[in-house]
Amino acid sequence: MTSHPSQKHPLCEKDATKEKAASTDVFVQIKPYEWSKARVLTETESEATVQVFDKSNIGVSIQTVSLNDYPHQRLPLQNVNVYDDLIDLPFLHEPGVLWNLRSRHANCHPYTRSGPNVLIAVNPYQWLSQLYTSKEQERYRHSTNEKLPPHVYEMAQQAYQGLSQQNQSILVSGESGAGKTETVKLCMRFLSQYGDSKITDRLWYANPVLEAFGNAATKRNDNSSRFGKFLTLQFDVDCQLVGGRCDIYLLEKSRVVGIAPGERNFHILHQIAAAGTVANLTSPCSEFKCLTGKRKESDRSDYATTLEALHKMGICGEDLHTLQQALWVILHSSNVVFANDDGRHDSRAHVEDESSITILADLLGVELPFLAESLTIKTMHAGKNSKIQVPLTVEQAREGCHAFAKELYAQAFHWLVEQVNRATTSPNETRSIGILDIFGFESFEENHFEQFCINYANEVLQSKFAEDVFQSLLTEFREEEIDLGVGYDTNRDVLELMSNGVLSFLSEECIRPQGTEAVFVRKLHQSYGASSRFVQGDSQHTFGIRHFAETVIYDAHGFIETNRDKVPSNLLSLCSSSTNHIVNRVALLHGISQSNMVKNTVLFKFNKQLVALMRSLNSTRTQYIRCIKPNLCNEPLKVKDGVILRQLQSSGVVAAVAIARSSFPHQMDHCKIMRRFRCFGARLNASAPTKVQVMCSLVIAMRDYKGPCDETFSDAVMVGRTRAYFRYNALEYLEHKRNSN
Ligand code: ATP
Ligand code: MG
Repeated sequence: MTSHPSQKHPLCEKDATKEKAASTDVFVQIKPYEWSKARVLTETESEATVQVFDKSNIGVSIQTVSLNDYPHQRLPLQNVNVYDDLIDLPFLHEPGVLWNLRSRHANCHPYTRSGPNVLIAVNPYQWLSQLYTSKEQERYRHSTNEKLPPHVYEMAQQAYQGLSQQNQSILVSGESGAGKTETVKLCMRFLSQYGDSKITDRLWYANPVLEAFGNAATKRNDNSSRFGKFLTLQFDVDCQLVGGRCDIYLLEKSRVVGIAPGERNFHILHQIAAAGTVANLTSPCSEFKCLTGKRKESDRSDYATTLEALHKMGICGEDLHTLQQALWVILHSSNVVFANDDGRHDSRAHVEDESSITILADLLGVELPFLAESLTIKTMHAGKNSKIQVPLTVEQAREGCHAFAKELYAQAFHWLVEQVNRATTSPNETRSIGILDIFGFESFEENHFEQFCINYANEVLQSKFAEDVFQSLLTEFREEEIDLGVGYDTNRDVLELMSNGVLSFLSEECIRPQGTEAVFVRKLHQSYGASSRFVQGDSQHTFGIRHFAETVIYDAHGFIETNRDKVPSNLLSLCSSSTNHIVNRVALLHGISQSNMVKNTVLFKFNKQLVALMRSLNSTRTQYIRCIKPNLCNEPLKVKDGVILRQLQSSGVVAAVAIARSSFPHQMDHCKIMRRFRCFGARLNASAPTKVQVMCSLVIAMRDYKGPCDETFSDAVMVGRTRAYFRYNALEYLEHKRNSN
């Protein structure tokens, strides 16, 4: 399974022809996350003097590297060729993986396999049209015996072929800007070949609708999806694509009222404001406080595109009008200013300029005084039948108004998703391919509730990933007729800490009237202080978790409020009185009663969704696409090693393969073994060696082998039906012996 001849990188051609001469070439770690190619000039037990090469293979400096301080510093380069599949790398280590990906990226091969059901997709940041032609689609569609280069189309075709046996799923993950959404679209485009254009067109138009409402420009991606999406493509008994539906996770509704510098609100809010007037209303719509960030020339024309897509989804007439009104409510509510008479922070608030809410009252279809009161007064129950009215402070009024705008946006989005599903779902589903486009693991300088939820989802998905990858390895070993007899580490303890620990202690504090984040963190510490996955924070509001990817310290400030996700009751009554049915949904679907408070928390609902998602994924055969950003400035052809390595680590790719291969990290097929090591005496048929012949050759070659802890040949090598697996030192020993022969 080595690479296609046409794909070889010039550097690697050189490596291949000079294998022996290059055998003293190593990777040295210059800084954390930075590896360079180097040639060993002299070497002692503890250190080596090396000539370091730059990326163009020019020697740039001579350095002395300590072999003791950095045990991985001396990693042989030989055979680091360009492989279609990381599994074929004879030496599985980070610089080897990196070298392979980097060489492929430089040659416009963004895709690399990592075993049978994992694809790594390095974002090319340039449209490689030759990869996506209809001829290419045909090639992957009809490939039977021919092994084609790795491709999203290959994954999609494998999923399609697998449909005859069971439902399929493709999990696409990666950090923001890594290319998940584009990859999902490529999968969709490929699978559209199997459906009628009337259906596939409609499915396709769901994308601009969801992107207009769910995407926004962020610092990392101009079209960043601010929600997770699980798309189910439906196939009938004849395996024809007949429809689709999608489930949505964790819309980032806080963006409606708070935008980081340099970012923008959801596209649709900018689009509708740029497009102008609203029926029956004469207010100028040019300035809205929630529309910060750069103005986009195309906002206005993008709105026309969105409208066209909405029409295709059957959202027009009265429904469209209702949706537009709801969006205007959100825009106008951002302009409401609260003030008080004496400037004291604890005195009652009023709406500064009542004319600013006239239009809002109109849009909502409620009386102006009722709106003004709902925004500034809280009604509380005192005893059985009496109520008291408590005036709000400026801050409380502003927070209430924000909570209302956020929830209204969320309800508008969910309503839209329901309409899209209604337009695209078929009643004739017999089989399905699920495609998940979900935010990758996040670790920032400050990590809040949102990061916790995202990392929780990633931890849940990671446990499935590890299991699947390990399972596929077990299958490989079974096919090789090798009994591995080992288990593998799970992340069950982190999941237990996150679900039983964080989720339940946070729920407790959310329903306790005087609940605080400090108590939540204290409870967590009391119960999980001894867990190796728990890290004590440096204040009463911080705690850390050792995730599979890395340790993340969370700041618990705001956890309770964000998790409670409450809209004040006075605004809920307002929503139920509105003539707009999307506004009514806020009251209907978000109304909280004391008895179901836990069930209304964000984490509880998200956990429930995750459980359902996992249940449905577990009944499918799953393939993984790990999307990777090659650099942080979204530029084509630029590669930052550290950026790629960090993502490889946090996506668990190297770790998963390494865990699985931990006992026998290196492998080589029988023909290659016979070619490379025949100098040791066994002159046998190198073109089709048998397992016994390979075994004999290796026994001869390794008769003097003594690994760590007196490890001998039989401890260090497993010979399978078509390939042999080596422990860490064993292959190095053979290579070393071969080079000094
Ligand atoms: P987010 O998590 O922020 O939604 P994402 O992983 O979904 O990010 P995308 O929006 O899919 O990222 O991709 C970001 C940008 O990268 C795209 O706008 C496009 O410019 C580029 N890109 C992604 N995939 C490809 C591809 N296959 N070919 C060319 N460019 C691509
Ligand atoms: Mg996206």
